[in-house]
Amino acid sequence: MTDFASLGLVKPLLSALLAEGYTSPTPIQAQSIPLVLEGRDIMGIAQTGTGKTAAFALPILQRLAETRKAAPRRGCRCLVLSPTRELATQIAESFRTYGKNMGLSVTVVFGGVKYGPQVRALAAGVDILVSTPGRLIDHINEKVANLSETEIFVLDEADQMLDMGFVVPIRRIAKTLPQQRQNLFFSATMPTEIGKLAGELLKNPAKVSVTPQATTVEKIDQKILFIEAGRKRALLAELMDDGAMKRVLIFTRTKRGADRVAKQLGTIGVEAAAIHGDKSQGQRERSLAAFKAGEVRALVATDIAARGIDVDGVSHVIQYELPNVPEAYVHRIGRTARAGANGSAISLVADDERNLLRDIQKVTRQTIPSWDRRNDRGLGSSEAAFKAAEPPAGPRERDPRDTRGRGQPGKRQDHAAGKHFANAPRPQRPGGYDPAVEGSAPAAVNRKPRRRSRGGGQGQGGGQGGQRASV
Ligand code: AMP
Repeated sequence: MTDFASLGLVKPLLSALLAEGYTSPTPIQAQSIPLVLEGRDIMGIAQTGTGKTAAFALPILQRLAETRKAAPRRGCRCLVLSPTRELATQIAESFRTYGKNMGLSVTVVFGGVKYGPQVRALAAGVDILVSTPGRLIDHINEKVANLSETEIFVLDEADQMLDMGFVVPIRRIAKTLPQQRQNLFFSATMPTEIGKLAGELLKNPAKVSVTPQATTVEKIDQKILFIEAGRKRALLAELMDDGAMKRVLIFTRTKRGADRVAKQLGTIGVEAAAIHGDKSQGQRERSLAAFKAGEVRALVATDIAARGIDVDGVSHVIQYELPNVPEAYVHRIGRTARAGANGSAISLVADDERNLLRDIQKVTRQTIPSWDRRNDRGLGSSEAAFKAAEPPAGPRERDPRDTRGRGQPGKRQDHAAGKHFANAPRPQRPGGYDPAVEGSAPAAVNRKPRRRSRGGGQGQGGGQGGQRASV
């Protein structure tokens, strides 16, 4: 296997990589580093989790150090555009980590925080500026930033930029850059609009690709669970009951949805935090830190807030709702199975989301294994736990999962999330009635959640056995 030295990286970088414990380059690094060192433009198809940040940061640091000169006042030598502040912060951290022996300056600039410190940081000029597009435009308009001497321009997560409406600001920023420069584009997918933008901004780019859909997706155990929209919270509670759900990133479509899910998890004793655009920078950072430290087991996020969340060891990604944009599915599941680890991605799909699922399967060119959990009597205990936690019951000192245990003696184990997938898929029950399960008619379920536990049938009823639901 190629090592970093044979890619042409200099000693100060190699020792920083050694300190990080990186022994060999990832495929995107092996492909990109020599090309960037040569000064080539790059069009890279790679998603987060493939090591793409180092793929551009390492050779950029080396190039800047080789032609050392003072950073231009109010400007930078290298500009990296990132769609979100989280990702911008992480990219800047990566530059600092890898470049700790190089003596180059790194500044990060994004919206939602005060202008003053950013203005001061830019005034003297910086070697590497990492920024979100909106705030950078403000600084350009205010003549706080002048990018006319930028030598290297990086556009990261270009497809996400498109989804977030940043293409126009990117074109505006690019107009202020000098003609003569090196350009590096990275995108997880290649929508037409991004292809067009790349055509305008890149010069004879070398194309590098790690075919993320194939490689990353292969390492992720993906599942679809069909469930009634109104019973998603009960199913989520049941999934979280599994000890294997150590560090779980949960996606919702809306900010309010993220708050609601985090709160609901809290009521049943699962430590959870929400992270989205309405939270202050401080709140987002605290939530992320608590999640990284393992103090909260579940982080509930919207797509935008989750961009660039780089947390190793995310055991599961749960899509509480499917994204409207199929490409976001790939971004979401890419938060697990990072840097070679395995991971699991579970999506809860209600009837009105089937069209979205169809699009996702088309874009990712795969059929995701699915299980039908609609009309599932086994969720009665989770529903009972929520009921018990709801006012006017008032606050009580108890482990809510005990409630579930009391509601259905002996059930918890069978409903541990892993068990649902450990065996063959369960039989689909069209019409929702399974004569083998006592009280399985939907209306009877909520009224008499205890009955089924007495009726036995846990073997089939616990989500085991059966056929794949068609999508
Ligand atoms: P990225 O795709 O840039 O978000 O990187 C994903 C994760 O992989 C980050 O946590 C990096 O620290 C880590 N990483 C990047 N390159 C390597 C490498 N060559 N060996 C081990 N870990 C790496």
